Amino acid sequence: MKNEKIKFHKAKKSFGQNFLKSNLALNKIVEAGKVNDEDIVLEIGPGKGALTSRLLEKARVVIAVEKDRDLIEILEEKFQKEIKAGKFILINQDILEFNAGDFNFLYTNGLVEPQATRGPEKKDKLKSQINYKIIANIPYNITGAILKKFLTDEIQPSLMVLMVQNEVAKRIVANDKKESILSISVKAYGKPKNIMKVSKRYFSPEPKVDSAIILIDEINKDLFNKENIKEELFWNIVHAGFSHKRKVLLSNLKGFNKNTNWQEIFNKLSIEEKVRAEDLNIIDWIKIVKSIS
Ligand code: SAH
Repeated sequence: MKNEKIKFHKAKKSFGQNFLKSNLALNKIVEAGKVNDEDIVLEIGPGKGALTSRLLEKARVVIAVEKDRDLIEILEEKFQKEIKAGKFILINQDILEFNAGDFNFLYTNGLVEPQATRGPEKKDKLKSQINYKIIANIPYNITGAILKKFLTDEIQPSLMVLMVQNEVAKRIVANDKKESILSISVKAYGKPKNIMKVSKRYFSPEPKVDSAIILIDEINKDLFNKENIKEELFWNIVHAGFSHKRKVLLSNLKGFNKNTNWQEIFNKLSIEEKVRAEDLNIIDWIKIVKSIS
């Protein structure tokens, strides 16, 4: 019965369902996440549970958020034992509506012992103790929304390992040195690294493009909390800088605020007047924002 259900589940395009069938890629994902028996892992879109099984072997608790009700049924059957043991928590919800504060139930139910305190002291004590990792082969149509939600969240994961479209992975890591709002956004909160390209033929059904596994490590808000940079100002300036692709950075910034002497700031920071937003790295952006704060 169980196997029949799995076999006959027809992949839904609207849910971005492309199931991963490469053992090598599955192993690499878990390895990149350095998953150990103290970890709380949040998996987005477990699908039929290929990655979930591996996570359950290594982690302390796996929480999976799956939007498709049909898949929930399959997963409930497949992981009956782990659900009973309190090791696997399955939630039928849209991940974009999920609130990491809900992790509180793990502590209040005694499923997990509170770990070392992290995050700003003024936060609710329980919240600040939550330490979790996101490890997932996500639905690609909400990649940007997932990154934004969890990187900027009050309760951030310590790291993320995500399967994304190969082009998106390249843009995030920006090894060719051309940055984008996307790459700067990620680098403001963590350290992105390309782990492995995964050909589209390792998915069923086969998507149109190749994928890649990325790791975003050491996620934190130190830039905003310790270096005293206002999160909102930082984003306003970065967005303004990238607003008109054809214009040089200087004129984009003038459009943002014409009363600031941007030329003088550029000179002081030894930034060339003709640079485009894509030529600046995260450190340059921090310097610019600092010099007007
Ligand atoms: N992790 C599985 C499936 C990946 S496909 C594997 O590697 O094989 C993407 C999964 O995300 C599907 O199971 C899909 O139903 C689920 N999904 C799509 N949109 C979602 C959303 N908004 N919230 C949670 N899950 C979602």
